[in-house]
Amino acid sequence: MRTPLVAANWKMNGSREFAEQFLAALDLEGVTAEVVVCPPFPYLAQVAEKVRGAVLGAQNLSKETSGAFTGEVSAAMLRDFDVRYVIVGHSERRSLYGEGDELVADKFFAAQREGLTPILCVGETLQEREAGQALSVIARQLQAVTGRASEDELQRVVIAYEPVWAIGTGKTASPEQAQEVHHFIREQLGAKGSGIRLLYGGSVKSGNAAELFAQPDIDGALVGGASLDADEFGKICRTAA
Ligand code: PEP
Repeated sequence: MRTPLVAANWKMNGSREFAEQFLAALDLEGVTAEVVVCPPFPYLAQVAEKVRGAVLGAQNLSKETSGAFTGEVSAAMLRDFDVRYVIVGHSERRSLYGEGDELVADKFFAAQREGLTPILCVGETLQEREAGQALSVIARQLQAVTGRASEDELQRVVIAYEPVWAIGTGKTASPEQAQEVHHFIREQLGAKGSGIRLLYGGSVKSGNAAELFAQPDIDGALVGGASLDADEFGKICRTAA
């Protein structure tokens, strides 16, 4: 039995005031899904202190443990703030900051070594989908991590399928398109796959969440834009029963 999970990725949005208002307005009464809020680093402590009914996530981490790495944040520092989950391999990190499969895998294991659960993002660009390469791209992104992971390490992971063409664009993969890829990912994970939560991400809103969550291999969502509205995000969480 996989407990649904809905994660809010605020990206580089928000302020102290925004966080204050969001947390006051977020109503998770009756929500059975696990809910994760991933604010920007400076607001982790504020969210940790005030959030009710959700756990804390981070949007990024360093692959290093400590030392002369200006501007970086380690897994141990995140754990110090009670962070439980951390996003790795988000397409914005891959495309804007040049993070390749190997670095993503290093970050994945850095998170796990400190007891954090990585939310590993995979997904194809529009060009790759149109060239019929969606599944091979996803297989490669997965393999970079699964090829280095022990059976035990593969237990402690959440995977988010985020087609790049659906992120922040208002275009959502159809439930059938998303299900096809989720099923493929589960197959790629082998025997352990049936216990791993697979999230869909890409313009999820309260209006399209139900049909996505109804798919047998979709266990929740990674939500960007719609997670900045506490009411809308609460509705999405409520839909993931
Ligand atoms: C994301 O950034 O992970 C995401 C899915 O964004 P959006 O919901 O805005 O498409």
